[in-house]
Amino acid sequence: MIPQPTSKFLRVKCEDCGNEQIVFDRPSTVVLCQVCGATLAKPTGGKAVVRGEVLGAVE
Ligand SMILES: [Zn+2]
Repeated sequence: MIPQPTSKFLRVKCEDCGNEQIVFDRPSTVVLCQVCGATLAKPTGGKAVVRGEVLGAVE
């Protein structure tokens, strides 16, 4: 048996420009929108705090 990874990727919509971006849900650094540079997710040592709308998980 291979253990399932607990980390995953999220589709996040930027609050400022509407850009949809794939964000790792346990980032080690702040994740910025690739279009407008707004903060999309902040690291907490565990799950990220996502700023913006989470549209769903990416398998
Ligand atoms: Zn943006």
